[in-house]
Amino acid sequence: MKPFTYVRADSITSAVNTMATTPGAKFLGGGTNLVDLIRAGVEHPNTLIDITHLPLTGIAELPTGAVRIGALAKNSHAAAHPLIRTRYPVVTQAILAGASGQLRNMATVGGNLLQRTRCHYFYDTATPCNKRTPGEGCAALNGYNRNHAVLGTSDHCIATHPSDMCVALTALDAVVETEGPTGKRRIPVRDFHQPPGDTPDVETALRPGELITAVELPPLPAAKNSRYRKVRDRASYAFALVSTAVALTVEDGRVGDVHIALGGVATHPWRAQTAETALKGAPATEATFREAAEAELSTAITRPDNDFKVPLAIRTLTATLAGLV
Ligand code: SF4
Repeated sequence: MKPFTYVRADSITSAVNTMATTPGAKFLGGGTNLVDLIRAGVEHPNTLIDITHLPLTGIAELPTGAVRIGALAKNSHAAAHPLIRTRYPVVTQAILAGASGQLRNMATVGGNLLQRTRCHYFYDTATPCNKRTPGEGCAALNGYNRNHAVLGTSDHCIATHPSDMCVALTALDAVVETEGPTGKRRIPVRDFHQPPGDTPDVETALRPGELITAVELPPLPAAKNSRYRKVRDRASYAFALVSTAVALTVEDGRVGDVHIALGGVATHPWRAQTAETALKGAPATEATFREAAEAELSTAITRPDNDFKVPLAIRTLTATLAGLV
């Protein structure tokens, strides 16, 4: 492991200022992904800025009815919080579907947003990877790609985004709050994670030196009737092959408000806008749900090892929608 300097930040301002004046530095929160990446030789920060003592752990309702989750709230705390459990059950279910209890007790909400792919070639420094080393090539394109993406891919990267929580946040139109050298920003989470294009090493809309300070969940009545469904190779401690986050209202047998995002199939948490458009005002029947799911997956680009994800995603989304009627 490359030696690094450790600095503990005592305020948001000092954390941001230290980052701005220290090329090669990284913020250290729960460390559940970053420390693994340092040990694997994928990340090489020369300085770690410990932000765990910053006052960013609160979860509270805002006057607008939205709920604000501090970036340093532990995943386990966010999942168990009464405001999240009762108003946004899809978020609680998504967090509980991810990782182990021990990891959820360490990992933060802000860190969850910044999780990096679990593409095995990304971690294997003996193989080419454009995300790890731009311009090097992509070993997954013609390699073993059973776990890789079928939506949002490019000729440069087909890695899936690993987070469960981010799929739920994307469905619910959450907003990411940041603070950086040029001030504060609010970024819709659907714009936060970037498709790979020809720069797969650029994964988020964060600007250099920006710190995530919070995630805001809007007041969304449909979110009370919401569900996260995850299909994986084993019952726990596995990443999604396919996942769905759905919030739905039904009025007089027809779909009212509907919010859908997919995980495990795309290079970033995938907002299923085609399916949403097809469903609004349509009869709330299994046949309609299946047609909408098929429309959403119609642009999928499959590889020899991952073509099973398309029918699996269609079945999973259809079942999740039907289960909310
Ligand atoms: Fe790297 Fe992406 Fe290719 Fe995986 S899919 S090897 S992360 S470029």
